[in-house]
Amino acid sequence: MVNSKNSGHLFIYHADLLGYNLGAEHPLNPRRLELAVKLTERLGILDDVPVIRPREAGFEELNTAHSADYLNAVKRLSRDTDDDEPKEAARYGFGGGDNPIFPNMYEASALYTGASLQGAEAIIGGAKRVVNLSGGQHHAHWARAAGFCVFNDPVVAIKRLRQAFKKVAYVDVDVHHGDGVQEAFYDDPTVLTLSIHESGRHLFPGTGWVAEMGKEAGKGFAVNLPVAPYTDDESWNYVFQEAALPILRAFQPEAICLQMGADAHYTDPLAHVCLTVQGWLKPIEAVAAMGVPVLALGGGGYNLDNVPRMWALASAVVFSKPLPKELPPDWKIGTENRAMLDPEPVQIPDALISIAKTTANATVKEIKIKHFPIHGLSSDSRKSGA
Ligand SMILES: [Zn+2]
Repeated sequence: MVNSKNSGHLFIYHADLLGYNLGAEHPLNPRRLELAVKLTERLGILDDVPVIRPREAGFEELNTAHSADYLNAVKRLSRDTDDDEPKEAARYGFGGGDNPIFPNMYEASALYTGASLQGAEAIIGGAKRVVNLSGGQHHAHWARAAGFCVFNDPVVAIKRLRQAFKKVAYVDVDVHHGDGVQEAFYDDPTVLTLSIHESGRHLFPGTGWVAEMGKEAGKGFAVNLPVAPYTDDESWNYVFQEAALPILRAFQPEAICLQMGADAHYTDPLAHVCLTVQGWLKPIEAVAAMGVPVLALGGGGYNLDNVPRMWALASAVVFSKPLPKELPPDWKIGTENRAMLDPEPVQIPDALISIAKTTANATVKEIKIKHFPIHGLSSDSRKSGA
């Protein structure tokens, strides 16, 4: 299909993806995507990376992640936006602030899902690294929209990857729990879902506890790493390094779907985790260093100054490019900082840092007790998974 075999790297984007627009007041503003892609281009990160126009995912393809009944309802609702059946909309998770109905909602959602699906197909065809920043809509359920997400593109893409690869890992660094993806593979030991996020006690969707670890044959293959509000780089990366990476390595995935939500940044308006750009990049660097094909997707992230910087840098990491140091001179930004990384450290009161550390330690301990034995890892040794 494309010259993916030449470079092994692909970036999937077209301006039509900006049609996934939940309204002027909605935090998931298409400007985030537009600016991120523009900045990634401007910094030269895509100079030798083919940019591919996505196709819409077909009904049958969407049906791997969603019921036919739901897909038909999304179709109906996107034609009938001044809907006289609000009850039907509510039954499928639409209406209200999070998931308003908008014109061409079905087509726009099928397009970002098609972009991820195309990424999966490119990887099956031999590509090593594919980025689709419009994807990563991890909250959509089998028959219900949720958390700004209509279709669950990671699920559709992973199902496609599984047709060619025996084991696929899903790694989610969005500040919200990757609940929809976890749900889809909850009894499946061939798909490891791993999500680090702010605890459900304080944040949507209210799930993602360590004890949610999969069921039946899939027990141990759903991994949840909840952290406290105000978690800083150190505690976030301690949890990822000590609890997530050993399991990910022991699982030996043949391909990884990486959800790169950028909302764990300290400036994000919707959550309370306090990472710097450089702290947030660390798990992405660790995944990219595993030497396994990676399908990297976007996700949340709602600060218009920082999401473009974060996704440009993450794309550079995924494509093994040197990290750019400065924004282009004419790039408009609402802060003083023109460096790509953040000035360190984020100022957080000691008492909150200490709560975050305690929670991080508890999460690591619980994961070691509950999950490590299932993956043949010793719960005593920190280095057992390396
Ligand atoms: Zn999020």
